[in-house]
Amino acid sequence: MAIRLAHNCINCDNLMDGNLCAKHKVIVNTHYTCDSFEMKAALKDERNCVTCSRYENTDCANPDKAAPGMLCASWAPQAQA
Ligand code: SF4
Ligand code: SF4
Repeated sequence: MAIRLAHNCINCDNLMDGNLCAKHKVIVNTHYTCDSFEMKAALKDERNCVTCSRYENTDCANPDKAAPGMLCASWAPQAQA
C-alpha cells in the first residue's frame, strides 16, 4: 500500500495566511479538500525517487526505472528524523 501526501487544504497551494482559501474565499482547515486542490510547488518538488522510502529497496514498484527526479504512484515518505 502506498502512503502519500494528503490532498487536503494544508498541502494546497491555494491556502493563504489565516487559513483563508484563495480560491473560495472561505476559512478552511486541515480536514478539508476540494476539486481545486493544487499541491504546493515545494511539496511537488520533494516527491521523487530520492525522497521515496522505497528507493533502492525491494518494495520499489519500478526498480528498473527509479532514479533522481523520477516519480511513480507508489512513492512513500521517508521516516522523519
Ligand atoms: S482550493 Fe480547495 S483544497 Fe485548496 S485550500 Fe481551497 S478548499 Fe482547500
Ligand atoms: S519508482 Fe516509485 S516506488 Fe520506486 S523509488 Fe521511485 S517513486 Fe519510489
